[in-house]
Amino acid sequence: MRPSSEPRTQMTETPIGLQPYGRLTSSVARSPNHLLQSLPMAEFEALRPHLEFVELVRETVLVEAGAPLTHVYLPHSGVISLVVKLSEGQTVEVAMVGGDSVFGAAAALDGRISLTDAVVMLPGTASILKVADFRAAADRSGAFRTLLVRHEQALFAQAQQSAACNASHSVEARLSRWLLRARDLCDSESLLLTQEFLAQMIGVQRNAVSIAAHVLQQAGIIQYSRGHIEITNLEALEETSCECYEAVKAQYDRLLKPSI
Ligand SMILES: [Zn+2]
Repeated sequence: MRPSSEPRTQMTETPIGLQPYGRLTSSVARSPNHLLQSLPMAEFEALRPHLEFVELVRETVLVEAGAPLTHVYLPHSGVISLVVKLSEGQTVEVAMVGGDSVFGAAAALDGRISLTDAVVMLPGTASILKVADFRAAADRSGAFRTLLVRHEQALFAQAQQSAACNASHSVEARLSRWLLRARDLCDSESLLLTQEFLAQMIGVQRNAVSIAAHVLQQAGIIQYSRGHIEITNLEALEETSCECYEAVKAQYDRLLKPSI
């Protein structure tokens, strides 16, 4: 995903913890991010000078809940997890944002405060945009605003489904749902992540996720080794997942497919 022709340049004001990687030059036709791809070309060209290209480094906290948001994130690859932290230390993921969407849009448009922690769960790259530049683009373009409303609806649908899923479905089903969405966002059956993080994502104790991962491995659905999960039977994983994977996917397809 990293274009070798892109010069590595030192940027200023890049958020702490992120590796700057330059800008999208005119040689790059479009950002790989789906929201940016959906913009009318003229609007994308107006945004292009303001887009910085960064690496999303695993486990980087992009912003904490309650903190001011400085940038909006438009991933090309990898996964940003939106996480709610409870007072006794538990963390639960409410949504996953990858190349299909954007993190920080609603807060950037108003409020400026992040409602959740945002953590890089699976590494990748992203375009980022300062909040002021993002707001300016939304102010001048109705097409941009329409896209943002759709993306926020999709994100809300995902958060709603996560709440219902965590309250009602088995750990095995939730783990399968999470792996399927991560697989879609990374376009890979090979995922580098620890059981500890997986447990946090689906809101269970680590031993519960270990048992569920063991069951999936015994069934030949995944191969798990230290910090690495390989999906070996995608069809069976879809059967093990609850309805929530398909429900979220259907909402994203309905709201965000370019042909709409
Ligand atoms: Zn579910």
